[in-house]
Amino acid sequence: MSDTGSRRRKLLVLPGDGIGPEVMREVKRVIDWMERRRGAAFEVEEDLVGGAAIDARGTPLAESTVRLARDADAVLFGAVGGPAWEHLGFDMRPEIAILRLRSELGLFANLRPAIVHDPLVSASTLKPEVVRGLDMMIVRESTGGIYFGEPRGVEDLPGGGKRGFNTESYSTHEIERVGRVAFDLARRRKKRVASVEKSNVMESGLLWRQTMTALRDEEYPDVALTHVLADNCAMQLVRAPSQFDVIVTTNLFGDLLSDLAAMLTGSLGMLPSATLGAMVDGKRHALYEPIHGSAPDIAGRGTANPLAQILSFALLLRYSFDMEETALEIEGAVLRVLGNGLRTPDIMAPGAARVGTGVMGEAVLRELEKASG
Ligand code: NAD
Repeated sequence: MSDTGSRRRKLLVLPGDGIGPEVMREVKRVIDWMERRRGAAFEVEEDLVGGAAIDARGTPLAESTVRLARDADAVLFGAVGGPAWEHLGFDMRPEIAILRLRSELGLFANLRPAIVHDPLVSASTLKPEVVRGLDMMIVRESTGGIYFGEPRGVEDLPGGGKRGFNTESYSTHEIERVGRVAFDLARRRKKRVASVEKSNVMESGLLWRQTMTALRDEEYPDVALTHVLADNCAMQLVRAPSQFDVIVTTNLFGDLLSDLAAMLTGSLGMLPSATLGAMVDGKRHALYEPIHGSAPDIAGRGTANPLAQILSFALLLRYSFDMEETALEIEGAVLRVLGNGLRTPDIMAPGAARVGTGVMGEAVLRELEKASG
């Protein structure tokens, strides 16, 4: 491993609730292994977040945790929430922690890879020949658009009844900054970006399209850009998903399309994600987390799949610590463990060996160890 580097990189680990601490434990073993066997130098802080922080400190996200997150080079988040906190008012819920962290760190680009690992090709509801080899990235704008646009509300109508309304709004600045994230990613991949909107019926969509074209022409002439209408994109994702490399889209369309793409791969317990902010003075805030929640239905049983959390750590190494080689090693180890037929219950297949969280984590470590000779 040549890319462990000598600079101490600051990592904030926030395990959270439910299965969060269980799956994070397996990542911490990978971190220990990297430090012990590879001389990687991490400065790891760990803190409470979500329900665990409510119980200990009366708030889902303490100011001291926000400061640690600002100071860190990257945040690795587990999951928050659970029945114990469901009676609380909306602004006191554990889930507020993640929304506040995103806004405090200015995280506006949500990255969701959709990868079909060969050993799991049968977990998809689509035919194997449609999803085999799928490897794409959806970049969703996550702090603007219709979920935040003003005016919004519900008003009484003079003749009786009510009217609910929201506003889709995007400025060139918002479009360009998420566009740059997508084009930069494409440069590290197959150099193809599909920009998705509804420019046929929405003015904000037309501005989105024109801004993406201008950005490509001015700053990324080496990247191929196509424009795809959102409804067509949904159809293409189910018909022939492998045609896509990087998709960049608005908050609303990204919400729908990234869930659709996630399901192409078949399992929640396998899917990592990243949320990135702007590059300021050579530093980009970033938070990495599995897309699954705290899974209270299986918490405490030792059966949770730790691979999405481990793969989130691999994304962190790739995008925040510039440790591509190590990220590939971890992803390769995960693939081999699956190839060897080990499965947690959520991805169980006929003939496979059923294992729990700890054995799955150990198997990944063993593969890393084997590969390093
Ligand atoms: P969930 O993702 O927690 O669980 C959905 C289903 O998938 C459950 O049956 C669960 O057992 C299973 N599952 C999820 N992750 C798994 C894993 N790693 N291994 C094996 N099985 C796994 O979603 P939910 O049930 O809708 O939500 C539960 C709680 O999590 C709620 O409080 C919700 O608000 C919270 N949540 C938090 C986040 C987050 O922290 N970012 C995201 C989604 C949901």
